[in-house]
Amino acid sequence: MNVFQAVKESVTAYDVATMAGLRPNRSKMICCPFHADRYPSMKVDVRYYCFGCGARGDAIDFAANYYGIGMKDAAEKLAEEFGILYDDAGKKDTGRKQYIARVDAQRRWILDKRKLFERISVLHDQLRKRIARYEPKDSEDSDVSPLFVCALKDVSYVDYLFEYCVFEATDEELRSEYEEMVKEIEKIEKRNTDTESELCGCDAGQIGERLAV
Ligand SMILES: [Zn+2]
Repeated sequence: MNVFQAVKESVTAYDVATMAGLRPNRSKMICCPFHADRYPSMKVDVRYYCFGCGARGDAIDFAANYYGIGMKDAAEKLAEEFGILYDDAGKKDTGRKQYIARVDAQRRWILDKRKLFERISVLHDQLRKRIARYEPKDSEDSDVSPLFVCALKDVSYVDYLFEYCVFEATDEELRSEYEEMVKEIEKIEKRNTDTESELCGCDAGQIGERLAV
């Protein structure tokens, strides 16, 4: 498979835009980087389309236009950034072995990142369920379960973490905070699965305080 086919098969315009540091909103809209755009008028999905200037294309077109480089260079750049192997990879480069090592490391990071996002959203779901389960049955109930309080506190923090990871943090920030974030998530998972313990040890958000600065 040549580099164009390989990249087209697995990289979307959305991926390229986020990799470039653009932050699509929940409707996958961004301010168009190809015309003076004050409000988001470009939709980025598998392909991109700008309702303002009509710019359109796929992941490779986006990269070529955004970085001002040729199509082949754009495709090769994306292959490396997204950890995609293709037939001629490494021939003109520093050698196929080094290329493969770089691509492997990059691919691992992309998978780690995806797992992190999934883990946060699974945790969010679980917390919502716990809140429903331990919610006081009537508003006069003075005997509020600490498990309820803990889950309530954690859910807003987890919400914040998700927003931060997906919409705010740059790739570099995520890389440097990844380990700490995983530990933080593990703590939240742990204290919200132990149903026997009345002491949930809730101390939500050391990272939150630090990241919020
Ligand atoms: Zn535009």
